[in-house]
Formats: sequence, structure tokens, C-alpha cells
Amino acid sequence: MTELQMPESKKKEILRVFNLQKQNHHQVRTTTYQQRKVKLKKLLEAVYSESSEIEKAVYNDFKKPASEVKLTEIYPLVKEIKHALRHLKEWMEPEEVYPPITFIGSKNRIIYEPKGVALIISPWNYPVLLALNPMVAAIAAGNCVILKPSERTPHTSAILKKIVSNVFDEEEVTVLEGGKKTAETLLALPFDHIFYTGGGEVGKIVMKAAADNLASVTLELGGKSPVIIDKTVDLRDAATNIMWGKLLNAGQTCIAPDYALIHESKLEKFIAEIKNAIHRFYGDDAMMQESPDYCHIVSAPHFAKISELVKDAVRRGAKIEIGNNSSSKEKFISPTVLSNVDMNSQIMKEEIFGPVLPVITYKEKGDILNIVEANPKPLAMYIFSKSKSFIKEMTVSIPAGGVTVNGVITHFTNSNLPFGGVNKSGMGKYHGHHGFKTFSNEKAFMKLPKYHSLKLLYPPYNSFVKKIIDFTVKYL
Ligand code: NAD
Repeated sequence: MTELQMPESKKKEILRVFNLQKQNHHQVRTTTYQQRKVKLKKLLEAVYSESSEIEKAVYNDFKKPASEVKLTEIYPLVKEIKHALRHLKEWMEPEEVYPPITFIGSKNRIIYEPKGVALIISPWNYPVLLALNPMVAAIAAGNCVILKPSERTPHTSAILKKIVSNVFDEEEVTVLEGGKKTAETLLALPFDHIFYTGGGEVGKIVMKAAADNLASVTLELGGKSPVIIDKTVDLRDAATNIMWGKLLNAGQTCIAPDYALIHESKLEKFIAEIKNAIHRFYGDDAMMQESPDYCHIVSAPHFAKISELVKDAVRRGAKIEIGNNSSSKEKFISPTVLSNVDMNSQIMKEEIFGPVLPVITYKEKGDILNIVEANPKPLAMYIFSKSKSFIKEMTVSIPAGGVTVNGVITHFTNSNLPFGGVNKSGMGKYHGHHGFKTFSNEKAFMKLPKYHSLKLLYPPYNSFVKKIIDFTVKYL
């Protein structure tokens, strides 16, 4: 769906809902732990009761298998809601902190107050999880929310709207469907926080719009997440694990392993193990298109983009080790593995976001850093090694949003860990308490006792006061 023009009536509708939420937020901001708990519980029940509709909707949008919808959309979402329900009371409590020595006797605390009215703009690739997961954090923190889901997954957006409107009044939480024009109209409004997940180019637009209203902003972006494999690992295990993470959602995952780096002496064996892993997962290549367990590409332009990345790499000398079977009609690309990839190929310069894995070889450890640092700081990094010192060296040397060692994707699943990128792969974190804090203003609170040292420091600055000031500067 493209929106060439935004009808006046839709603009008015957006403004009406926004104003309603702005007014209503005075009431929502003071909600108690019990009241917020009721809301989260209702949301949890709605997700459970609509789960088969959710599975159907996501399948209709891009043939994502029901098991993957359960595992990668519904399960992490309900886990996040349950985590919030378990911890909300302690998160909402003001955090007592020590007073400075100069104000001994004062009460000092950090109060977590809701930011206000939040805008969440979500992408198509995990259309349920990436829409509702930040919403859980926003609701837990006491905000009103407008969610604009991706126009590229319309069936899912419709079910999101149904779930949210069954649980919430529009003056508290609502879903506004639409594309670029709807997003632009929303971005012009003075939200208190904007939470955006998607590509970096739109991320810049979002950040500029947020600057006009000085709204705080979280950007959950993407990038090239490397997998670094040293000589010590069991290649069968590593290849299986890596291909599971690569082929989930047909590679359309922000933290999918983008490319693999392996010592040149292990290339052949690694490719053979990848082949075996794909076969174990999906059977013969010829049957894959029919496989109910393998997702398709979301749109024709995205299909064309991935195909062009492979063509460009092959033109520059890359060897197709596995796959590269495709159907534009079905928007299907089989798992594809490339070797001998020229580092100037486009596929090594931008996020692939599809089921294609370039395998790059290195001779020395130093090559690894050079290759990874040719691209912006990744959203995720994966290290496969039995060597503690190798793991430490890679973790310390390469900046990244998150790291999983001897596995892929899984750091995302721990609600106690912050999730987010760094610079071009994003800014700001969420999940669990980190999400609650993202949607909260940490308000500093200090209550002074009747007698405190400042009273000794008022002007006029006579010699007695000066001595106390000197003493304070030197010793306190
Ligand atoms: P997308 O096309 O669904 O767009 C994301 C959202 O931006 C949509 O809601 C869309 O309507 C909106 N949008 C489009 N144009 C806009 C504009 N001009 N102004 C404001 N909003 C606009 O998603 P995409 O961009 O294809 O997403 C894929 C990217 O997202 C990849 O780079 C991926 O790595 C990244 N991603 C990151 C995360 C994360 O958690 N860090 C998760 C998923 C995807």
C-alpha cells in the first residue's frame, strides 16, 4: 500500500487521537502498580486468545511458518509481558540513593515518571513482536501510546489494531495504520518519546523530526552482524547453529548473522557442514519452495534487492557454494552461501537481510578486525570459539550492540539484558527494566532537612564563610 496523499480527514483523525491522549495522560501518569498490572494482564490474555489469528495474519503477509510465529513473535512477547508483571512493582518504586556529605540528613531518590505520550513506529520483519514489545515497556512505565505498524504487513497490522482496541481505550493506547505519509504526519506532532525500529535512512528522518520537538528518541536499526569462527570449534555444531539463525524468517532478522568469517584452512569443511545443516532442516533444495518451515521474502522490491546483491557479488568473482534458487513469483530465495567474495561487492557493504551468507576467510586474527571495521558498528556480533582469550579479545576489540558466544540471536531473548545498537545500528536500549527506563524520565528528588550546611554558606562572604567554603572545597 502506498499513500501518495494524505486526505485531510485522516490528518484530522490523527490530530484528534493525539490530542485526546495528551489530555488523558494527566490521568494515566498517576496510575498505580495494580492498575498497570491489570492492563498488562489484559494484553497478555488478548495475545493468547488471538494467537491463531496472529499466526494466520503473519503467514498471509510473508508465509512465515506458524511455528516460527509462535517461537519468535508470540513466545518472546508473552515472556516480556510476564517479566514486566513480575518486576513492575520494584521498577516503579523510587530508588533511594545516598546524600552527598554536604547534605547529610537529606532524602534522595530517583523517581521513575512516565515520559507522556509515546509514538512507536514498527517494521514488518517481526511485525507482532517489534510492535508490541516496546508497547509493553511504554505501558508499564505509565505512558499513552500511538503505534504505527508497517504498511508492508497489512494482515498483521489489522490484527494488532483489533487486539489493542479490544484492550485499551483510544485515549490511552491506539493503533494507527498507514505508511510513510501517516508516519510523517505523526512525526510532526510533539510526542514525548519516539521509539522507531527499522532501517537507518528512515531512522535519520525520525531523529530530525524528533529534534524539532526535542522529543527523546530510541532508534532500533540494523547493520552487518558478523559471525567470527576460530579454529577451535566443532564446525558441525557451529554451522547448524549459524544457519538456524540465518534462515529464521529467511534471514530477514535485524540480528541475523550477516556474514561469516572463518580461518582459510576450515573453509571447505565449514561449507560442507552448512550444506548438511540445510539438508537436515529442510530436505532437498528442490523441495524447499514448498517447505512449510521456510519463510519467504516480504515484498517484490526486497526480493529484487537481495537478488541484485548476489548477482553483483558473482559478477565480481564470488562462487555460489550452495543454493541461489529463486522464484520471483513466490518471492522465494533458497538458502544461499557464497565464497571468494570481493570485499568491494555491495553485499559486503550493506545489510543483506535475506537468506544469503557470504563466507569470508582470514589468515591472521588482525584480518578479522580489518574486515569487521570496514562497516559501521554492528547491532550484534557472534563469536564461536573454545578459547577464553580469543572470546575476550574479540569482545573487547569490536564495538557492537550485543554479543552471543557459541550461538546466535539468543542474547535478544534475555529480558535482563539491554537490547539495542550503537551509533549506526541504533541508540537507546529496551527489554525488561531497560525498556521501562527508556519510557521513563528519571526524576531527581531531594528533600532537605531543617538544618543543613548550605545555610552556613550564604552571603555576605565574610572571613568565616570564606573559611568554610575553602574547607568544603578541600575536604568535602
Ligand atoms: P519498514 O519498511 O517496515 O519501515 C519501518 C517503519 O518505518 C514502517 O512503519 C514504515 O511505515 C516507517 N516509515 C517508512 N518511511 C518513513 C518515513 N519517511 N518517515 C517515517 N517513517 C517511515 O522496515 P524496514 O526499513 O524495511 O526495516 C528493515 C530494517 O530494520 C533493517 O535494517 C533491520 O535491520 C532493521 N530492524 C532493526 C531491528 C532492531 O530491533 N534493531 C528490528 C527489526 C528490523
